[in-house]
Amino acid sequence: MKHNKVLIIYTGGTIGMVQDDNGALHPFALERIIDAVPQLRHASYDIDSHQLSRLIDSSNMNPTVWVEIADAIEREYDNYDGFVVLHGTDTMAYTASALSFMFEHLAKPIVLTGSQLPLGMLRSDGRENIICALEIASTHLFTIPEVCIFFQSRLYRGNRSTKVSAEEFSAFDSFNYPSLAQAGISINCRNELVLPRHTLPLQVHKHFCTDVAILKLYPGITEAVARAILDLPSLRGIVLETYGSGNAPTEPWFINAVRNAVDRGVIVIDVTQCKSGSVELCRYEASCDISQAGVIGGRDITVEAAITKLMFLLGQYPDDREKVKKLFTQSLRGEMTI
Ligand code: ASP
Repeated sequence: MKHNKVLIIYTGGTIGMVQDDNGALHPFALERIIDAVPQLRHASYDIDSHQLSRLIDSSNMNPTVWVEIADAIEREYDNYDGFVVLHGTDTMAYTASALSFMFEHLAKPIVLTGSQLPLGMLRSDGRENIICALEIASTHLFTIPEVCIFFQSRLYRGNRSTKVSAEEFSAFDSFNYPSLAQAGISINCRNELVLPRHTLPLQVHKHFCTDVAILKLYPGITEAVARAILDLPSLRGIVLETYGSGNAPTEPWFINAVRNAVDRGVIVIDVTQCKSGSVELCRYEASCDISQAGVIGGRDITVEAAITKLMFLLGQYPDDREKVKKLFTQSLRGEMTI
């Protein structure tokens, strides 16, 4: 049987970090990663690697770097069976969501992984994560044509994932969609949960609009704070993090601020602050007013997927607000339950 080939794309993050003289962690070169996992030299698949122009702590992630990652994958798409992206955990769920929207008609796995402890440390969780991510991206046994996150024995759909712990090795979860695969003695894939493999040619979309914001509601939010964001002249889209099933204050100043934004052409998406469950507009009176003001229900989408989807759709269709609104309510890459 021919050896499958995987390309590792190294972006930075804890997995490859070393401590400087002051004890602070900063990213280090890719060779150190391969040295720290010598088992990779005996893998039953071929591994090549590509390092981004600048290694970053993922707190510095932005759409320009997403495009750099996508460019690296697109250039080599026909030469590899799968891709593993080494990434910091802090914004991994945002990058996984963004990449999922960028890659239309994906037929190969793109698996993001990282670690809570650097690979160079004895107790690092990175070895397990990188080896399993490579196995999943290279296996002949199943194909997961999706952008995923592998972390501590589980493979999640990327745009359903959220970082849930700054301490535990199981740093990610996917509250509204089951994990796609689990690594035990063997790696078991739940094929029925995986998106269908596309036969149409791959398309990579690279435009994002960053004139967006997230406004999280909390009891006591003032009109001045809400308006400072909702009235921003450059604002094109906003994710409103609401309570429960999509509820928000019914006070007139709040509804007016939201209505003014919608009337100016801002796309307002209602996403719940709850970890699991779905927005259901008008289930309570407290979501009817914003619904009537023109807010769009984001169903069970994560905040990470909602903001990247908004940036992506506004980037693709800058002059077609109706199309952005319509596409937002559809599940483009399995990011929400319809
Ligand atoms: N600050 C790091 C990063 O996101 C954390 C990590 O990699 O786990 O790059």
